[in-house]
Amino acid sequence: MQRFMRFPGWKAKAMTLSYDDAVVFDKRLVEIMQRYGLKGTFNVNGGMLSDTFYRRMNEADAVELYKNSGMEVAMHGLDHAFLGGCTGADILKEYYEDKIKLEQTFGTIMRGGAYAFGVCNDEIVNVLKTLGVSYFRTTVSSNSFDIPTDWLRLKPTCRHAAENLFELLDKFFAEQPDKEYRAYPKLFYLWGHSYEYEDQNNWEIIEKFGQKVAERDDIWHATNVEIYDYVKAYEGLIFSAAGDKVYNPSGTDVYLWLNQKRVLAKANTTTVIE
Ligand SMILES: [Zn+2]
Repeated sequence: MQRFMRFPGWKAKAMTLSYDDAVVFDKRLVEIMQRYGLKGTFNVNGGMLSDTFYRRMNEADAVELYKNSGMEVAMHGLDHAFLGGCTGADILKEYYEDKIKLEQTFGTIMRGGAYAFGVCNDEIVNVLKTLGVSYFRTTVSSNSFDIPTDWLRLKPTCRHAAENLFELLDKFFAEQPDKEYRAYPKLFYLWGHSYEYEDQNNWEIIEKFGQKVAERDDIWHATNVEIYDYVKAYEGLIFSAAGDKVYNPSGTDVYLWLNQKRVLAKANTTTVIE
């Protein structure tokens, strides 16, 4: 039995964005993302939602911007602490208090985030696991479109400041399987900070990126956690040995190719394959 995950609508490609620090320029970025149908995740420091911090949004503005925007709010550490060499207690405080604060502020369960300063080690990963966090993004570019497997050491495809950004995007667009039913799915994962566009005066990068992407209808746009939940729902499918039935115990409809046939494994259902 050969199976290949597809994203909703049978799409083989997905895209997600990840932006850090909740600075005031996120407002312009969210507006651009919404205009082009891009989706993504904003990684917020729960203890820094105040005008007293340079260029940061205050709590009221952040709630107004992100709530009902279609974007995800995620963790970035309470105080953007540099955790290299820190003890487990410091790490626990930085992420536990961040999770509590953000969940109270935004009214959602924090499922993931991004490492402040990109600092990621086994001790930090263990704390995040203990807190029940599903995924966390590093700052290490993969320059690839593979579906992540190590979700707590998530590698983005590239940052928007990368010299090869549009080269990678064209490569992503060009990836076409010789046979649709046996192609692996692909993910383009972009990250950065909205203040980089402001400081470099190069908002045209994300405008051009959005324009190019909006011309295509073969990409599923989702937040980080939506991608995670979808991949986990696919991985949770249970197949009969003969390959004639698939049971989907999740609450998410899952699209896939199974033995060269399109199958829609409906949520909470055993689907008989014709
Ligand atoms: Zn940061």
